[in-house]
Amino acid sequence: MKKLLEMNHVKKSFDGNEVLKDISLSVEEGEVVSIIGPSGSGKSTLLRCATLLETMNSGDLIYLGEKAAEDVDGKTIYAKTNDLKKIQQYFGLVFQNFNLFPHYSVIKNITDAPIHVQKRNKEEVYDEAIKLLDKMGLTDRADYYPCQLSGGQQQRVSIARALAMNPKILFFDEPTSALDPELTGEILKVIKELAKEKMTMVIVTHEMNFAKDVSNRMIFMDQGVIVEETTPKQMFQSTNQRTKEFLGQYH
Ligand code: ADP
Ligand code: MG
Repeated sequence: MKKLLEMNHVKKSFDGNEVLKDISLSVEEGEVVSIIGPSGSGKSTLLRCATLLETMNSGDLIYLGEKAAEDVDGKTIYAKTNDLKKIQQYFGLVFQNFNLFPHYSVIKNITDAPIHVQKRNKEEVYDEAIKLLDKMGLTDRADYYPCQLSGGQQQRVSIARALAMNPKILFFDEPTSALDPELTGEILKVIKELAKEKMTMVIVTHEMNFAKDVSNRMIFMDQGVIVEETTPKQMFQSTNQRTKEFLGQYH
């Protein structure tokens, strides 16, 4: 199996408050990894460090063997801007609150970065965007603006936008937390479909049944550390006290 992402001994503090305490993980091609854990345990910070939205204090960040950042004497040194730009194309991120550009139509939200950041052929990008919209069940919404769509539709647009960059890994940070239960299902269905197609994904979620269903591996985080990392089956049979207490809330 090819390793797509490696994070080694990652530490991150905010004003002296250590939020990530020596986190190491790796993700292989085709894997779906879910990250679960209580609010404030550092899940979003971990994804933000992995996706270069946040800098780490120390640790390594390696995509496909290319170092985005490496630990030099307990301090993170980031790669040069051009290398980081290349590495940024390896992943996509889907946020809890969709983060679409409100003043761009759906199609422009999807095509803007592939055309202007990746400098790809306009027509090819549009064709692909239309296919992605079809796949997301949004064929007739290309010219709508985000405010004219339901939350579920907006989230499907933001998944299409991430996929339009052809990422090797897709990260999701609580993709259904801002949605009503009836809209949550449609997003989980889309993610399950992507899993079937062997899209490599790292998903922070509170949807335990979904996580159990879709993941090859689950990571339980609490207070800035990885408490347990195992198969969904093992996770739900865990004898670890903290894991049991956390999962107990969802019964
Ligand atoms: P989770 O996603 O698991 O709920 P977060 O990664 O959002 O956890 O937050 C972990 C901790 O880091 C929390 O205590 C939060 O208040 C703190 N934190 C996160 N981002 C910042 C920030 N930009 N500045 C200061 N503290 C932050
Ligand atoms: Mg979070």
